Amino acid sequence: ISVNQLAEARRALESPLYADVGGDLDVSFEFFPPKNEKMEEQLWAAVRTLEPLAPRFVSVTYGAGGTTRERTHATVARIQRETSLAAAAHLTCVEATREEIDQVAQEYWAAGVRHIVALRGDPPQQGAKFASHPGGYENAAALVAGLKRLHPFEISVAAYPECHPDSADAAADLDNLKRKLDAGASRAITQFFHEPETFFRYRDAVAAAGIRAEIVPGIMPVANFASVQRMSAMCGTDVPAWMARLFEGLDDHPATRQLVAATVAAELSRRLYAGGVKQLHFYTLNRAELAFAICHLLGVRAKPAAAVEAA
Ligand code: FAD
Repeated sequence: ISVNQLAEARRALESPLYADVGGDLDVSFEFFPPKNEKMEEQLWAAVRTLEPLAPRFVSVTYGAGGTTRERTHATVARIQRETSLAAAAHLTCVEATREEIDQVAQEYWAAGVRHIVALRGDPPQQGAKFASHPGGYENAAALVAGLKRLHPFEISVAAYPECHPDSADAAADLDNLKRKLDAGASRAITQFFHEPETFFRYRDAVAAAGIRAEIVPGIMPVANFASVQRMSAMCGTDVPAWMARLFEGLDDHPATRQLVAATVAAELSRRLYAGGVKQLHFYTLNRAELAFAICHLLGVRAKPAAAVEAA
């Protein structure tokens, strides 16, 4: 543990509850494309609730194997067209040739979308080893370079505070992040994690590797512990024992789970903020309440409509 990390941790722990919130936090929100009319309504209710907070951008995920290609496009294009928000489209390399991916990117550019979250993606069969499509982009770094050749997109990429499962070690993982940034990405958004120290350690390692780009913590409010536990196991994210205890006995108490989830995620966010983090990316799962509550606790408030429009 470095002196820097110790100082960060002490500052975070000693800061009085919510005394340090100042509203100088930049937030972004992630949605997934809806599958049916009911989900569409839920998504749009979430978008409209979060829009007045004037996030830097909102992003829409791309289903495994490109299965949501049309739905992702329709959602991103509608957000771009009908709201004051800057919409970013996730795009992966899975199951598609370079030409097909370039075509999708061209359609985004034509729809006024200027920000792509460029990812390798995962194999369609869970647990299988990733193999790039013959004639496709072999990884996220290659995709970033390909997108940059097409248009001057703003590009975000993924980063892994607990190391990507395919990486040989943390150094190889950081080399891979560096390749993506060198190829033209301007920021990285992290996989979710549960302890602030995990992020602070990673931030130090990133800085020690000479990487200066913005690393934005991805925050996953844990409203459904069993499902987050499954996702954490798949992506190598450590689940602390205290978290399992916290959700014990709450299976039949969804409202209480929501309150606990908001408290835990707000505390994580507050400690990150106290440790100098000024950008957070929320995995909303298309439900606004948790992200909205956490932002409120951190001093992020609705901006007047004119300011949102100007932003
Ligand atoms: P890459 O950075 O290309 O590589 C991942 C790992 O592969 C590297 O760590 C490295 O170990 C290895 N690797 C890559 N290239 C090389 C090389 N040249 N030599 C050696 N090793 C190499 N998935 C979706 O399907 N849709 C989404 O919308 C989506 N959104 C996401 C958003 C965020 C913020 C995050 C963090 C993840 C998201 N994912 C999404 C998941 C992501 O697709 C998976 O984590 C995937 O396994 C890796 O994608 P990547 O872009 O990090 O891959």
